[in-house]
Amino acid sequence: MTKKLRPESLMMSYGYKPELSEGAVKCPIFQTSTFVFKNAEEGKAFFEIAYGHRQQQVGEELGLIYSRINNPDLEILENRLTLWDEAEECAVFESGMAAISTVLLEFLKPGDLLLISSPLYGGSDHFIKKILPKFGIHYAEFRVGQSKEEIIEIVEKTGKADKLALVYIETPANPTNDLIDIRSSKEIAAHFSTGDKEVFVAVDNTYLGPIWQHPLKHGADLVLYSATKYIGGHSDVIAGACLGSKRLLNRVKGLRTFLGNMASPNTGWLLLRSLETLKARMDIQANNANKVAAFLNTHPSVEKVYFIGNITEADKEQYTIRQKQCLTNGGMISFDIKGSEKEAFKFLNALQLIKLAVSLGSTESLAEHPATMTHVDVDKTLRNQLSITEKMIRLSIGVEHYEDIIDDINSALMAASV
Ligand SMILES: *Cc1c(COP(=O)(O)O)cnc(C)c1O
Repeated sequence: MTKKLRPESLMMSYGYKPELSEGAVKCPIFQTSTFVFKNAEEGKAFFEIAYGHRQQQVGEELGLIYSRINNPDLEILENRLTLWDEAEECAVFESGMAAISTVLLEFLKPGDLLLISSPLYGGSDHFIKKILPKFGIHYAEFRVGQSKEEIIEIVEKTGKADKLALVYIETPANPTNDLIDIRSSKEIAAHFSTGDKEVFVAVDNTYLGPIWQHPLKHGADLVLYSATKYIGGHSDVIAGACLGSKRLLNRVKGLRTFLGNMASPNTGWLLLRSLETLKARMDIQANNANKVAAFLNTHPSVEKVYFIGNITEADKEQYTIRQKQCLTNGGMISFDIKGSEKEAFKFLNALQLIKLAVSLGSTESLAEHPATMTHVDVDKTLRNQLSITEKMIRLSIGVEHYEDIIDDINSALMAASV
């Protein structure tokens, strides 16, 4: 076959050689801590490469050493994940937070400034605002809708513009689905880069990736995932991933080796299995979400729907970003119910098919209340400014039949309005 195969066609086989595993059609779980070297010379050569003491020669592979450094389940998973984002390298972690915190620690040092978009996932927000300051790392934040010039001014006003080292964004923002321009973030990073200091851009792509948005194509240096969400997709595993160039991923993998927060062989194997149906699952989820949003848009008990598909040309800034970056409207919908916390809770408690739980991107539809659950840690004033009020409900749309999802929402809305 000469035609290049698409990622979804490669998810069952790419990077796995059955002849190395007794002919097993599926990659087994390599539940082993260490690997036997053929001889001492081979062990020496593997370590020289793994620890960067010399360059890999052409055709020379990094042999298996020890499962904190490498393991077949992780390497095959990493190779398959690079296909979606067309990345040179990938590193998988035992959680999304492990991937995020490792990147922040690798690319920031005491005295540095980090620029972030707001709002961020609660765990990322906590790590940046409560933990990084203990290491002398400062942050500045900008909001959706602020122009490049305004954001540059925010950085300059800190008095630490010369220390800006990383721009960290999350788009679409959780739970409001507001979009942030990746290309423009890269331009801001370039504005503050100098001959001897390169400012990098990292994007948390959990909400749309890796099928519906490819940040590396829009100028990002690093893309991050909570693989617990769409990539894992079955609410049965916690994992994370980071992708980018070989040059940057060497640094990420270097720190991962010494923090020891790589994924386990079992987690790697579970994600390999999940990847086989990733495209199929996400296609159904995006299609279902369009149908559910259309239903919510006209429902009398619903005040406002936050959905990428609802962005109209009238909102020029958001519309332009959507056309550039988003390949679908995604599978996440938030909405304001008419009323307050009381009505929101009645709705959540009345759901039958949709489960009341945090997390997202799984086969089953989930619903939660951001103001008292995922975003309870966000300062209340900021929360209100961001429209995360007690009226808001967040839905993660699964792969059930869309009419069953809609019927469940419809009944729960009726129960909430009596
Ligand atoms: C869940 C999530 C994370 C954290 O991932 P874990 O796998 O729970 O550690 C980070 N970012 C976003 C956007 C998330 O939804």
